[in-house]
Amino acid sequence: MKTHVLIVEDEAAIADTLIYVLETEGFQVTWKSLVKEAEIILAQEKIDFIILDVGLPDQNGFEFCKKIRSGKQDYADLPILFLTARKEEVDRIIGLEIGGDDYVVKPFSPREISARVKTILKRIHQPEKTQVTHTAPANGQSQQQDKFQLEEDKARLVYCGQAISLTRYELKILASLLAYPERIFSRSQLMDKVWDEPESSFERAVDTHIKSLRAKLREVNNQDDPIKTHRGLGYSISLK
Ligand code: CA
Repeated sequence: MKTHVLIVEDEAAIADTLIYVLETEGFQVTWKSLVKEAEIILAQEKIDFIILDVGLPDQNGFEFCKKIRSGKQDYADLPILFLTARKEEVDRIIGLEIGGDDYVVKPFSPREISARVKTILKRIHQPEKTQVTHTAPANGQSQQQDKFQLEEDKARLVYCGQAISLTRYELKILASLLAYPERIFSRSQLMDKVWDEPESSFERAVDTHIKSLRAKLREVNNQDDPIKTHRGLGYSISLK
């Protein structure tokens, strides 16, 4: 099945070029010029990737991204590549405070876009790929998954065969990280996933819970530090 890319861009000329290149590269492409139209498509169809313009007529792309990330819908975690016309906006995107995966500044070459899309998809689907390429019956993936057994109903983690009890926040943070190994989550993404009212808390709270999680994991195995800090980006967990 083809990877389905949704382009949200109000300039027809840009959209046309992107559609052409992406379709040539084997993607299925849907183009919408308004956020409200994009929302309808996201609810109706299986979308794998969003290319999102920042300056849209009915809503700012950043606001739309935030809305997507904080929602409970299936598409909350979709990779998002921003298109921006203004260099000044880049800082916000680089900080990934709004939960984007990457950005491209206009004017750009359409080839550059398709290369970015592929890179992001590759990064996100890395664990699955590993599984496919390993032909040995007991492949690394299942062993890696066994390393972390999250027992959410018991609020505990079995890590390297040893049970650790977790607080509610630690449990939710860990579950979010483990759902997408190697993927980098910004603090605000983790907050949106974990806190009921993200706005009322501080992002540093994530750091505090990560710190206590690390300490608990270290007590079991001090040779290993599976939760990685990505400066300016956020956290990821490694199964290796
Ligand atoms: Ca625009």
